[in-house]
Amino acid sequence: MPYPETINLPFNRSALPGGFVLHPTPQTRDSHPARWIVLQGPNLVLCEQGELLQLPQGALPSELLLTFPPLAFASWQGQQLLVTAISSQTTLPEGLVAEPFNALRERIPAELMTIAGIGKQLLHWQQMSRFCSRCGGQPHQLADSWGKKCPDCGYEHFPHIHPCAIVLIRRDDQLLLIRKPEWAAGRYGLVAGFLDVGESLEECAIRETREETGIEIKNVRYVTSQCWPFPSQLMAGFVADYSGGSIQVDGNEVEDARWFTIGSLPNLPAQRSIARFLIDSCADIS
Ligand SMILES: [Zn+2]
Repeated sequence: MPYPETINLPFNRSALPGGFVLHPTPQTRDSHPARWIVLQGPNLVLCEQGELLQLPQGALPSELLLTFPPLAFASWQGQQLLVTAISSQTTLPEGLVAEPFNALRERIPAELMTIAGIGKQLLHWQQMSRFCSRCGGQPHQLADSWGKKCPDCGYEHFPHIHPCAIVLIRRDDQLLLIRKPEWAAGRYGLVAGFLDVGESLEECAIRETREETGIEIKNVRYVTSQCWPFPSQLMAGFVADYSGGSIQVDGNEVEDARWFTIGSLPNLPAQRSIARFLIDSCADIS
């Protein structure tokens, strides 16, 4: 697959392989062999044959104890796609591996990661929408939609997608990168955070930059967006220019922030991420 353009970043629908059909609503499981999205914590369970990673097919090994009923959410090349989850305590039988979505070595192909991301997001929605958040009733599935309607109060619920802003900050030939304690050793990334009530995405980028680094920015310009199914975000990517302030970090959420010269950048986020896309393409954004 070519390096992503703005629209086909991994996890976006444009990165899906041919022959993939997302169902408009959950389907009944059919009797034909299926392909599986099996989630185990932050990992995707895959069949490993040498360097080749594939989705499990057919009957799953009996030692995989499912923690959620299989959800038929799509088809691919004529086969039903089911998504489910297993306990993080389960020991995988030989031939299966639990590959982290955020592995440093990006072994999962972008197309497979995108299929799995959609299944993951829909399974999360099914898990989180079992009861009406308004009255506690048990919503029914709507026809031709992933939404649900509560039979008791009539409220309609649709998949929750949480917008976030992520921003690449430039000062001359330097980029402002931050480091969070939970990231891989030596890795630096971009300022990002969830949208607050009563806030535009640009305002969110400005606020998050101020909160995480003490830096003020200007010329906040939208570049692209990426579905981010961990569990259900939409990352809106911006580029901005430094306008003032000096770096100050809290040492907890953010442990370091620094200006790096474009020619000598540190260990960067994986290529699957909008963060990396913004960094790699920043020279082309005027
Ligand atoms: Zn209700």
